[in-house]
Amino acid sequence: MNKSNNSKIARPRLRLFQNALASVCLVVAGSAWGAAAPEPLSIAPVAGKVYMISGGTGANISVLAGEGEALMVDGKGPAEFDRIRELVREVSGGEVRYLINGHEHPDHTDGNAGFGGSGSIIVAHRGVRDVLAAGQRGGPPAPAEALPTVTIDHGEKLTLHFAGETVHFIAAPPAHSEFNAIVFYENANVLHLGDLFGPIRYPVIAGGTIDGLIAADEQALALANDDTKVIAGIGPLSTVAELRAYVAMLKTVKQRVAELAAQGKSLEDVLAANVTAEFDATWGDPSRFIPTVYENVKAQ
Ligand SMILES: [Zn+2]
Repeated sequence: MNKSNNSKIARPRLRLFQNALASVCLVVAGSAWGAAAPEPLSIAPVAGKVYMISGGTGANISVLAGEGEALMVDGKGPAEFDRIRELVREVSGGEVRYLINGHEHPDHTDGNAGFGGSGSIIVAHRGVRDVLAAGQRGGPPAPAEALPTVTIDHGEKLTLHFAGETVHFIAAPPAHSEFNAIVFYENANVLHLGDLFGPIRYPVIAGGTIDGLIAADEQALALANDDTKVIAGIGPLSTVAELRAYVAMLKTVKQRVAELAAQGKSLEDVLAANVTAEFDATWGDPSRFIPTVYENVKAQ
């Protein structure tokens, strides 16, 4: 849909929608009216030969810069393909040889067709390949060039040796999504966790569970030391102290919700109990997170 069409459709809809839907519509309208343009894409050093691309749409990217080639984790979307390639060339002098998918969601895999079509080898959890091949969220099957060709299953890991770096690619349990992975750049001491971690917002759990999320983050923490840097799907470059605080928050919220659920409290009761009070200043609005945790603990 081009911008002029989008604008014509969005305006009358705004007048009709109730408050509950207005914010969803404003996101659509914002792009048409230029009211909420994302930050431009930019690249910044993280540690060693690892860089982070942030801004634009889609999840944060990490780039391991070699001599004339690069390894990359996640690839945003097709609209950003050319600019990402430029940024990768700036730091590596070459193209993306390996593209790793952190998990299956579109903001992490929509760049696959572009990079796969230009020769990148795509590495992912086997389930990511299955989801893309079948078509995600009711969409059509992804083209062949978008499909990962190197895959691992639950409980497995893969080690890539690239540009003097040892890159650990580890399948996590269903956590944020069903097919998450942990990426650890051992020498640079950088964890790329995607949406297994969020420094500025509560988790969205779409395909996994709160227990899986805690387990995945503890698996990541076992690789880390006090100096480890952490890349989240959304938000700024973070420290391991922030990851530890995130895990502590997840455990506390889960325990509080579980206790209330065990007392027979309804979801409305739990929402009213304000179990995230001391965390909201850091992670924002818990109104989508709490129902997921409640659903998870009730299912146990
Ligand atoms: Zn996701």
